Amino acid sequence: MERRFEGKVIVITGAAGGIGRATAERFAQEGAKVVAVDLEAAALRDTTALVEAAGSEALAVAADVSRSADVQRYTAAAKDRFGGIDYFFNNAGIEGWVGPTTQYPEDMFDKVIAVNLKGVFLGIKHVVPLMLERGGGAIVNTASVAGLSGTPSIFAYGASKHAVVGMTKSAALEFGPRGIRTNAICPSPIETRMMRALERGINPDEPEQVHQSMAANNPMGRYGEPSEVAAFVAFLCSKDASYLNGGIFPIDGGSRAR
Ligand code: NAD
Repeated sequence: MERRFEGKVIVITGAAGGIGRATAERFAQEGAKVVAVDLEAAALRDTTALVEAAGSEALAVAADVSRSADVQRYTAAAKDRFGGIDYFFNNAGIEGWVGPTTQYPEDMFDKVIAVNLKGVFLGIKHVVPLMLERGGGAIVNTASVAGLSGTPSIFAYGASKHAVVGMTKSAALEFGPRGIRTNAICPSPIETRMMRALERGINPDEPEQVHQSMAANNPMGRYGEPSEVAAFVAFLCSKDASYLNGGIFPIDGGSRAR
């Protein structure tokens, strides 16, 4: 594998989850040092083990992306341990509740907005100054196909992911002139814990049936793999993507071609 990120540093939030972990491994294989951030301290150990097995260095930081003090702690840790930040995968997210909007629990709405929207904002706010110190960098925000179309059964999630698209565009315009490219990815269903939870939310009795019909509905007949998302995040951070800024990229097997 090419080693496009030798000596570089990436911060990944949601690094104990399916997409975050696969991306940590991919960047480590390409030579990057990885700051792995997640709420789940124990699960982060599996991520750091993968990074080390790939021959790179990892720092695990247990933090809640929706809390300003935690975000300042993970950015400071990146600077203390590795000297700065070159790439930021702003990826932590939660699915929230599944069901009719008139019954959507208000506290869950607030929680989804806190993690998926405010967490992405706080990440950009505190990471950008460190990237500017290095003369630039690349940010990839994880939105979703639910940030591109309405998704009535996951109302707060859809709202939060549309907001991620908006924040990506604003950041691209504000920081592009200073050497930081900001793009967003919009995955359709990917094989991770989050989809298992959504399948159960849609049909608690037969989640496997939901999986099969959603997979069959995709032009490629399947969900995406976390490694397929990771490969694109790596491309977006690489020099090959040097003119990509403010882009909103579906990773969806062609489902939006309809
Ligand atoms: P996942 O549940 O496996 O991973 C999400 C990770 O985020 C978990 O490890 C979780 O502990 C962490 N997290 C949650 N709240 C946090 C907080 N407050 N602070 C720090 N970490 C927190 O799911 P995934 O599929 O890997 O999701 C990663 C991102 O991809 C999410 O933003 C999700 O919305 C997005 N996404 C996923 C899919 C999919 O089908 N899996 C599709 C589109 C977008």
